[in-house]
Amino acid sequence: MKAVAVFPGKPNSIHLTDLPEPSIGDIPDGRGILVEVLRVGVDGTDKEINDAEYGDAPEGYDLLVTGHESFGRVLEVGPNVSGLAPGDYVVATVRRQGSSIYDRIGTYDMTTDETYYERGINLRHGYLTERYVDDLEYIVKVPAALKEVGVLLEPTSVAEKGIEQAYEIQRRLKVWRPERAAVVGAGTLGLLATLILRLRGLEVTTLARTEPPTLNSELVEALDARYASTRRTSLKEAAQEYGPFDIIFEATGVSTVAFESMEALGKNGALVLTGISGGDRMVEVPGDHIMLGFVLGNKVAVGSVNANRTYFERGVQDMALSEAQYPGWLNRLLTHPVKGLENYKEMIRLLTEEKGAVKVFVEVNGRR
Ligand code: BGC
Ligand code: ZN
Repeated sequence: MKAVAVFPGKPNSIHLTDLPEPSIGDIPDGRGILVEVLRVGVDGTDKEINDAEYGDAPEGYDLLVTGHESFGRVLEVGPNVSGLAPGDYVVATVRRQGSSIYDRIGTYDMTTDETYYERGINLRHGYLTERYVDDLEYIVKVPAALKEVGVLLEPTSVAEKGIEQAYEIQRRLKVWRPERAAVVGAGTLGLLATLILRLRGLEVTTLARTEPPTLNSELVEALDARYASTRRTSLKEAAQEYGPFDIIFEATGVSTVAFESMEALGKNGALVLTGISGGDRMVEVPGDHIMLGFVLGNKVAVGSVNANRTYFERGVQDMALSEAQYPGWLNRLLTHPVKGLENYKEMIRLLTEEKGAVKVFVEVNGRR
């Protein structure tokens, strides 16, 4: 069976390879689910993996099958699987269980283990292949009505987790009623965070570098959110004009933005950092100001990575709500389809060069 893989540590090694067929028997206790892959989305992490900045091969392999944003259809289920049947549409989670106490209660996204296992990213093969098998625990059902947009569930789950972290933490305030939020970054993650915050009824300002109009700015405005270019309006100015911000959701991976957000955050506010800053840049920041504002304003900043199945399930609910409230909006994110695994070169080209792309994704199996 065909698969797209890299040799971790070797830059630009993406290639087509051949893997043995998976079978439900590969998973213990009759809990296996065999899935036919229909679509796989790609993002900055895939680019970094191909640039050899990130990612390791599973034990016994020198290659890693990439792709962590999956969408597929169940082909076969093990004897101890209930709630899922052949023909169902599904998305698989990414992180796999480690050994910390957080892993043992199903919150493997909160692991404290040094090594983490992520399908398509680190030490586990991903979904850019024709079929995969996994345990029931990691497979989330998607209603057929969402089949055109189901490939967006993994990035949605990451945004869901980040926002849920803010709400969980803010229970400290007893009566937290967030009204205004800022999202920094208008890529897929920033757009999905804008959507989720709008669905929760917040007034949202989404900031990104590029001046409007762009597809991204139009997508923000289609949610009745405000788009602002940081070329014209700094985060600080945005806070003065459109704040105070009760939540700031960072989705850029640019570390200077993290510190600017700390300054721009309102009193009692929560800053959620989700961007993955792969570099080792040194930055100069107004440290005293930031610290004083944090202390006198009882502010909080939290980092958030990955998502466990709870957030995938929440993502399914919000995607359904999105279709009711903003029909067709999710579909507009799916800008660049690539036909077939053999076109992996085009996939990487679009991912690295196509400025207008929101989501590049591979149509793995034609029929749906
Ligand atoms: C993925 C997450 C993952 C993170 C770190 C992101 O691109 O969407 O699931 O935890 O990379 O590897
Ligand atoms: Zn990702």
